[in-house]
Amino acid sequence: MGSKAREIIGMNVDELLGLLQKAYCDEWFAYYQYWLGAKVVKGPMKDAVGAELLQHATEELAHADMVALRIIQLGGAPITRPEDWYKHSNCGYDAPDDPFVKVLLQQNIKGEQCAIGVYKRLLDLTREKDPVTYNMVLTILQQEVEHEEDLQSLLEDYELLVRAMKE
Ligand code: FE
Ligand code: FE
Ligand code: MG
Repeated sequence: MGSKAREIIGMNVDELLGLLQKAYCDEWFAYYQYWLGAKVVKGPMKDAVGAELLQHATEELAHADMVALRIIQLGGAPITRPEDWYKHSNCGYDAPDDPFVKVLLQQNIKGEQCAIGVYKRLLDLTREKDPVTYNMVLTILQQEVEHEEDLQSLLEDYELLVRAMKE
């Protein structure tokens, strides 16, 4: 823990730690949902979709890493048991039981939209209170925004492909 680092936080550090723990659980679920989705994906454009899902998996894991390090800096301990992820997660886990490209894209778009909301709230909460967390959250938020757009444009291409096949 950094004692001075903790001291400069202009808000309740335990409350902040609680919110970071929740985001930490979200990132692990997002990682696994993408990672497995990339392996099982089926249907038109599965190669393009699989590559994007795998890239996002890597980025979600990097988010988990950043959030874990910040929790430790603030004197907390990242949640040690995966079974606790369900209790704390904001966005939950959508199992890729249906491997159809369209379904996987929709599930992950929903997850990104949830993540964007979570990080926007964290951004508003830490603005002018905790510049270090704010900066980290901004970096993550920028990537979640990219993720949503990547998936929505793939879904759009998928819909256009289906339309073209009908004509
Ligand atoms: Fe993320
Ligand atoms: Fe994401
Ligand atoms: Mg991407």
